[in-house]
Amino acid sequence: MSVSRRTLLRQIGVGAVMGAAAPALRGFSPASTAEAPRENFVGADQPARVATAADPVLLYRNENPYGASEKVLAVLRESVASSNRYPRTEYDTLVEKLAALHHVKREQIVLGCGSGEILGMAALAFLKPGKKLVQAGPTFPSLGKLAQAAGVEVTSIPLNKRYEHDLPAMQEAARNSTGLVYIVNPNNPTGTITPRKDIEEFIGRLPSDVTVLIDEAYHHFVTPNAAYESFLDLHFDDPRIIVSRTFSKIYGLAGMRIGYAVATPEIAKRLAAGFPNWSVSVVSARAASAALEDVEYVRLGIKRNTEVRQEFMNQVNARMLRAIDSQANFVMVNPLRPPEEVIEHLKKNHILIGPKYPVLDKYIRVSLGTPEEMQAFWRAWDLMPATGKMAM
Ligand code: PLP
Repeated sequence: MSVSRRTLLRQIGVGAVMGAAAPALRGFSPASTAEAPRENFVGADQPARVATAADPVLLYRNENPYGASEKVLAVLRESVASSNRYPRTEYDTLVEKLAALHHVKREQIVLGCGSGEILGMAALAFLKPGKKLVQAGPTFPSLGKLAQAAGVEVTSIPLNKRYEHDLPAMQEAARNSTGLVYIVNPNNPTGTITPRKDIEEFIGRLPSDVTVLIDEAYHHFVTPNAAYESFLDLHFDDPRIIVSRTFSKIYGLAGMRIGYAVATPEIAKRLAAGFPNWSVSVVSARAASAALEDVEYVRLGIKRNTEVRQEFMNQVNARMLRAIDSQANFVMVNPLRPPEEVIEHLKKNHILIGPKYPVLDKYIRVSLGTPEEMQAFWRAWDLMPATGKMAM
């Protein structure tokens, strides 16, 4: 079921389709929203969301707004009883499931306390002063920050005009003294993808001692298309590749802190070396195993995100704003006014969105929430004056 702009406008309580739209929505109260017809919208059975200081709408960290599935929550509750024990069989079970899912050997899987820890492992294994990191700018900043803190040079290559990784420029940068290249696909914060065939060619031309980390945290949200293919679903025979994935996004387990990497057995060993190997909790490992089995819930999450993302773009267009076409669970929007003012205005209305990105300094990043949360977002948005400086 695709979600039309008309449907959301109806849901927000506006009968007629609007043109420049924003002022028309101003002043709609939560009560009028609750009475509006909502039958065709994902989450239509949910009550309208009212953002408050104590219960803000969180659209800032690209989380799963629906949470983990009921099956996973049941496993979580049950697993808490084992909290007095160190992990025993839980890692093996999860590693086996992941190896089967990705058609690799168990020795090729490394678990981490979030994929953030995998990034740390990669930094420790492949970077040092004199062995730099090459990445895009902007991209997910954790790895770059870790590298910088360790005194490692970081070269950030601006995205190209299509907001893809500029692979020819990255290749030039990686010609010498490079330990690791970081490719985030889809990229955060832009939500854009870099075509698979371009990445393959790029890797083929890299010096043989450069390792490539492909971060697929947002893989599930990509609408199937000819340009994109995961490096796990379709293997590429090159021993220098590490692919990282997370349970924080589609599986709804950000707070449980669990992610993983897939690499050759040799690289997997190198990644894990120097790390304690028990940073994943029993509860997280069991929850992750259950999440992998709940395939239906993953499908539902993808469907929900696709629909909310489409509706978000409809709302952007209705307000004549600009947005970068996203393949993830967040969208970068040019609000056509100073981003810091928009961030501040939304914050005052208890809607939290992403920080300002120095490289794309005209944009804001909005994580996609539930339909009700997005409705609250647009309601707050439409309280902004049409132009000029806002009254705070
Ligand atoms: N990689 C990317 C691209 C991200 O956006 C994030 C978090 O938002 C992470 C990795 C880290 O995720 P986690 O440590 O929760 O697995």
